[in-house]
Amino acid sequence: MDWADELAASVSGPQVVNDSKTPSGTVHVGSLRGPVILDVIVRALRRAGVDTTLLYGIDDMDPMDAQALLTPDAIDTEMGRPLAHVPDQAADGHASYARHHAQTFIDIFAGLGVQPDRYYWMSDIYPTGAMDGFIRTALDRAANVREIYRRIANVQHPDDWHPIQVVCPTCARIGTTIVTKWDGERVFFECREQLVTWARGCGRSGWISPFGGAGKLGWNLEWAAQWSLFGVTIEPCGKDLSTAGGSRDRADAIAREIFEREPPLNVPYEFLNIGGKKMSTSKGRGAAAHEIADVVPPEQLRFMFIRPRPNQVIEFEPEGTDAIPRLFDEFDRFAAATAGRPVRGEIAPGFEATFAYSLLDPNADVAAQATLFRPAFSHLALLLQIPNVDLAARVAAEKGSPLDEREAATFDERVRAARAWLETYAPERAVVAIRDALPADAIAALDDDQRRYLGALADAALSADALPASGEAWQDLIFAVAGEAGLPNGRAFAALYAAFLGRSNGPRAGWLLASLDGRFVTARLRESASPDGAPPGVGGAA
Ligand SMILES: [Zn+2]
Ligand SMILES: [Zn+2]
Repeated sequence: MDWADELAASVSGPQVVNDSKTPSGTVHVGSLRGPVILDVIVRALRRAGVDTTLLYGIDDMDPMDAQALLTPDAIDTEMGRPLAHVPDQAADGHASYARHHAQTFIDIFAGLGVQPDRYYWMSDIYPTGAMDGFIRTALDRAANVREIYRRIANVQHPDDWHPIQVVCPTCARIGTTIVTKWDGERVFFECREQLVTWARGCGRSGWISPFGGAGKLGWNLEWAAQWSLFGVTIEPCGKDLSTAGGSRDRADAIAREIFEREPPLNVPYEFLNIGGKKMSTSKGRGAAAHEIADVVPPEQLRFMFIRPRPNQVIEFEPEGTDAIPRLFDEFDRFAAATAGRPVRGEIAPGFEATFAYSLLDPNADVAAQATLFRPAFSHLALLLQIPNVDLAARVAAEKGSPLDEREAATFDERVRAARAWLETYAPERAVVAIRDALPADAIAALDDDQRRYLGALADAALSADALPASGEAWQDLIFAVAGEAGLPNGRAFAALYAAFLGRSNGPRAGWLLASLDGRFVTARLRESASPDGAPPGVGGAA
């Protein structure tokens, strides 16, 4: 059983699944793990017949604290203000900085098939008064809140500290204010010049009502209040927040002891680590979600996030590696297994659910999707580099019949992805230029047994009823002939790369040969075996 199905089987009654996010700055690809996990949980619950609602909150009353994202003239006025009150720095029609950045991730979520039933904005919620009861309770029980921080997180707030901040009526900042008294209707606040390092308060102080949008709960309290307000029953949460004494522990304790409600079920999830490699250097690529999404289509991205259990770290190193081609290959293996076709190697239990949850459309016909013909990514990346190849015709020939409409769409998507991969993350060895003429120097540098191997491979290929038609068929033959000749695989591959690329490395050799015209391949193999026109090698398998 897939992890999400296990979870769905463990709950009872209607479920409200929630997450929320502060709308600031670029969305890192790793931050998409949460939304995809959220979506898979919702799909698993619905598949199990559980009435389920997915909510997503925008914490846009949080203060602006990232100077780098403001235009220089805006820094003085805007730092410390609620994100919802900061003007859109891009001036492209959004009502605020928060709306602009939230739109970015809402669009990314939609592109990944993550469709919350409702987005809620804290800047809309506070003015309705819906949070007032929680604000009152938190203020009435401020001493208990302080005690929770002390006990759970070892944080000692001053005795006059209160768990709310107000919007300063003079300078409109919220990050610079502190509340020190509560008389049952109003709070006494100070807008301190040096409360935080990233924004400067105006020095105003006085009594003010904290209700109706004038004030906002501290983060852990706001989180716990959202659970009560929306009846949240499940909320996954990243490892950084799930540590002992961390934000989630505090919010859980506040939910139980201050708002007197059992907190939602947590599904803690690990990070996605983008390798220490220079992700944003060589070709100007970074780990921003939209940049990865240009190369990895949504279903493969979903697959990457949900194949491991949430508590497993994902290491993803796309730069200069085969990580992206391997991701496609794994996806295709899961599809094949789901379609009931034999696959190489072990496959994780629950593979059918993993494949189903990777699909963009929650209502997709999984069996039909599993049987679709999908050209191997590496093969496409190779074919794209071979001159005069009719890509669509080659792929149809590989399938054995014309592609249907969905297959053609998948083909187009993969061609775009492969092209983008070659231009960005692909390692040097994946970039090939087939030599028109025999690379004489490289062939001359081979040993005799390597040259004999090339001749034997040509003989073996020509001795069959038909030349190998696929990368796998060529790959099998390459290994078989090397085995018969007693030639280590590495030296066999080196000979092949020398014959076709004039160098010692290259992409998977079987697929390299399959991408070329078969007669050209066998002629080149024979020519390489006896470059001086001498009789063909003596080790022929024919
Ligand atoms: Zn905008
Ligand atoms: Zn102020």
